[in-house]
Amino acid sequence: MIKIDNTFKNLFKSTLMVVLISTMCAFGGFLFGLNFYGIFFIVFSLQYILFFCISQITKSAFVEKTKQKELDKLESLSTILNCAYCNKNNIMIFTPNDNNRIEFKCDHCEKSNVVTMQFLVARVTDSINLPTVTGIPLEN
Ligand SMILES: [Zn+2]
Repeated sequence: MIKIDNTFKNLFKSTLMVVLISTMCAFGGFLFGLNFYGIFFIVFSLQYILFFCISQITKSAFVEKTKQKELDKLESLSTILNCAYCNKNNIMIFTPNDNNRIEFKCDHCEKSNVVTMQFLVARVTDSINLPTVTGIPLEN
């Protein structure tokens, strides 16, 4: 209820402001011999167009900010990869964003490796043929 009251208060305040500014401009123009209602109408419309533009800009800025926040939320992944040159293990930590390709320098031979990503697809309902913790493979 308080929130609605505030919204109405703000709406009333801003409308009052627009009317006040329009009236003042119109009166100023009237003093210079211009049409009071004509100027009032033009200034009134201009302010609403301006407000509309400002709200659109702030809205798109807000969307951009939210997007950036979502990207920041991506956790970095860590995995062990074998070097393409010497085949030794390297611990890799990377953040999955689309900005740059993933590379790492081998800890053992110091050669640069490029990481290519691959997606594996598995059925949800069937059991996968993976070895158990004790080392005995599961049979279907
Ligand atoms: Zn290596």
